[in-house]
Amino acid sequence: MKTFDVAIAGGGVIGGATALELARAGLRVGVFDRQQPGQEASWASAGILSPAPESPGMIAMVPLGKASLSLYPDFVAQVEEISGQSTGFRPKGTLEALFSKDTREELSTIIALHHGLGLQAEPLRPEDARELEPALSEEVEAAVLRPNEASIDNRSLMNAVLEAARRSGAEIFPGSGVKAIWREGNRCAGFQLQNEKVEAKWTIVAAGCFSETIEGVAKYAPVTPAKGQMVALRADDVEIQRVLWSDKIYLVPRNDGRILAGATVEHVGFDKRTTAGGIQKILSAAIELAPDLANARIEETWAGLRPDSPDHLPILGPTDVDGLVMATGHFRSGILLTPITARLIRQWITEQRVSEDWSRFSPLRFQSAGAEAAQHALD
Ligand SMILES: Cc1cc2nc3c(=O)[nH]c(=O)nc-3n(C[C@H](O)[C@H](O)[C@H](O)COP(=O)(O)OP(=O)(O)OC[C@H]3O[C@@H](n4cnc5c(N)ncnc54)[C@H](O)[C@@H]3O)c2cc1C
Repeated sequence: MKTFDVAIAGGGVIGGATALELARAGLRVGVFDRQQPGQEASWASAGILSPAPESPGMIAMVPLGKASLSLYPDFVAQVEEISGQSTGFRPKGTLEALFSKDTREELSTIIALHHGLGLQAEPLRPEDARELEPALSEEVEAAVLRPNEASIDNRSLMNAVLEAARRSGAEIFPGSGVKAIWREGNRCAGFQLQNEKVEAKWTIVAAGCFSETIEGVAKYAPVTPAKGQMVALRADDVEIQRVLWSDKIYLVPRNDGRILAGATVEHVGFDKRTTAGGIQKILSAAIELAPDLANARIEETWAGLRPDSPDHLPILGPTDVDGLVMATGHFRSGILLTPITARLIRQWITEQRVSEDWSRFSPLRFQSAGAEAAQHALD
């Protein structure tokens, strides 16, 4: 039987980065993935690093997002140095384009909301927005610049994180699906694979949208898949520096010249197929935002499954079973939240205290009737 200080179910960016932190803290860490690690949501993502809330329900996550964004430069430097690989980090800001005729009121509401949450945001006139980003449509009426936001090439990050974790001493086991949590009374003793048990003092579930399928996890992490379709474009005559948003779409420039466009949000089960309707929606919104993209080549289309939770907030921290910890449910923000998740889990395991208030994200919140009613009210 394999024995570790910490056994992690799932080798996506959350499991990988948590393994890296814990291995660097001197713990013996094993990461078990049912396939090659890093091939699910963390591969499919757009890699935008933005703590700005997409809906009122997401405001609860802003402090965590801000803390994580501020950790990013050091996190990237560490991962790149240990792995010897680049992550395609682009700290160039993001720009949200507004098209409506009532932009003046909309703009001041957005700016006030951002400032109220302690987020940097600057209003831009259309001509200033187009000077910064000439690819923007002439129909843009105003824009919001969020200068400290960023993006990262999540596929490169994923590879680099796994390599850094390995080089720091974590052991990674591909093709090792976790079937069940191994409980002994009120203690978690590790987990059960197909034909063997893995023993660990601490067991972390970081299996993304599949976490719930591990026996013994559903009551702590009732996650479901939320499909997102994406398109990668390449256009020699369109240059985009920052992440661009409209209310329908985002465009994300990569260092290799690709421009990613996405994404749909669909609750259709564990289905990763791209569809004509999904890709059509993305392409027409992309061309509306940056019209010259009409001539772009389509290089790749794909879909991935975000780990969604009932209140769309992450599920982080200890459970009521000794040694069993959740790190999942990051929905649309898992790349952003990677450094803070890894740090908080490491702090909890090595010091039993954390530097951020994470009670709102407790895995125990799905068990109280009051909490359930509050979640439904948010849906
Ligand atoms: C289209 C799209 C766009 C996105 N855009 C952004 C963005 O711009 N910014 C942002 O911050 N976030 C974004 N996200 C969300 C982000 O990608 C996810 O929140 C994040 O990748 C989740 O990471 P994870 O490690 O929890 O899950 P995953 O990357 O899904 O990893 C889970 C791992 O667990 C493994 N596994 C599954 N079942 C088992 C089992 N039983 N035993 C062992 N291993 C198992 C899987 O094989 C996989 O390797 C996007 C997601 C998608 C799909």
